[in-house]
Amino acid sequence: MANARQSNFMALIVQKYGGSSVGNPERIKNVAKRVAKYRAKGDQIVVVVSAMSGVTDNLIKLAKEIMPLPTEREMDMLLATGEQTTIALTAMALHSLDLKAVSLTGSQAGIVTDDVHTKAKIQHIAPKQVHALLDAGNVVIVAGFQGQTSAGHITTLGRGGSDLTAIALAAALKADLCQIYTDVDGVYTADPRIVPGARKLDEISYDEMLELASLGAKVMQSRSVEFAKNFGVIFEVRSSLNDNPGTIVKEETKNMEDVVIRGVSLDKHQAKVTLVAVPDQPGVAARIFKALGDASINVDMIVQNISHGAGKPATDLSFTIDKPDLLKTRKVIDGFKAEIGYREAIADENIGKLSIVGVGMRSHSGVAAKMFETLAREGVNIEMISTSEIKISVVIELTKGEQAMKAVHAAFLE
Ligand code: ASP
Ligand code: MG
Repeated sequence: MANARQSNFMALIVQKYGGSSVGNPERIKNVAKRVAKYRAKGDQIVVVVSAMSGVTDNLIKLAKEIMPLPTEREMDMLLATGEQTTIALTAMALHSLDLKAVSLTGSQAGIVTDDVHTKAKIQHIAPKQVHALLDAGNVVIVAGFQGQTSAGHITTLGRGGSDLTAIALAAALKADLCQIYTDVDGVYTADPRIVPGARKLDEISYDEMLELASLGAKVMQSRSVEFAKNFGVIFEVRSSLNDNPGTIVKEETKNMEDVVIRGVSLDKHQAKVTLVAVPDQPGVAARIFKALGDASINVDMIVQNISHGAGKPATDLSFTIDKPDLLKTRKVIDGFKAEIGYREAIADENIGKLSIVGVGMRSHSGVAAKMFETLAREGVNIEMISTSEIKISVVIELTKGEQAMKAVHAAFLE
């Protein structure tokens, strides 16, 4: 993302600070100190901030105390105040260090979205005002997570949406650098709280990051990583609590394939549903998954097996869903029991989805065998398997999840 600004020997940097990085006045002052250091080098800085940690959740709670289902327009109006608090406080913290700084709401920063309240998409960014303020020597602080429709209504970009604000602004401003500051040192080979041997990665490809994020290694909002991939925004995930270099997220390069596995993750938030003895006929799976889709139930893995019972041909159909959707799922499958006909439905919440991710899988063979052998040695039974070009996932018993994760991490990454 080199641009003309480099000729003035100054870089344009977008720095995003998440909720924990601005969680109290002390932390906000630390953010200001960090920004001041970069400013002293002559860099132009755009700061994107989240609401202080817990604030968005509290606002949601507050709304629910007024009414159970508030309109989404008013939710956006409410939630946008969280980030507005932080931009003003951050500007004040910079002023107290004698730096010129101006805070801007999403709409003042020129962020225009569609009108899908609570999960709006950015349509375009007109950063004229941001450029003008930067050129006048200001640090510009932009409220993350929010924008405005072309008709002037405040919108929000979905939970965790400040990441998207930062990435999209970096693209629109043609920034030289985009830094995502958080409370961990970067992206790890596994959750270091579970796997003592986990290491911080120097770099990771967009696709690997997306797989890890969707697998529950929630470092960043997935949508923002997709956006970065589409617009070629290279960014760094790093800690706001120290000066350690973080993890660079970028397009895949040839040498990334030298490493077989980039990371291991464990998703404990899924449940497995099995429909026993479903009639083996064309159209049945379509009917089942259409009904689940219509109810906005996200289905992840699906496995179908021939049922070797007497009578008409039948299959057992298992699929995984997000645990909180289990009640809704029960209703849907009860609803089509008479029409489709299956013997019984079994739900299992005691599962974990263990996955290994790495672009190196494309060029290395025997990866699945090594994973399965490792699990066998640990006495871990595999209930379901799914694979993609750069990922292998297995469903296993939840209580053995962490043990299995450690063993697989040791086999590939230690
Ligand atoms: N404050 C919003 C949330 O909690 C946006 C963000 O943190 O990125 O989801
Ligand atoms: Mg956040």
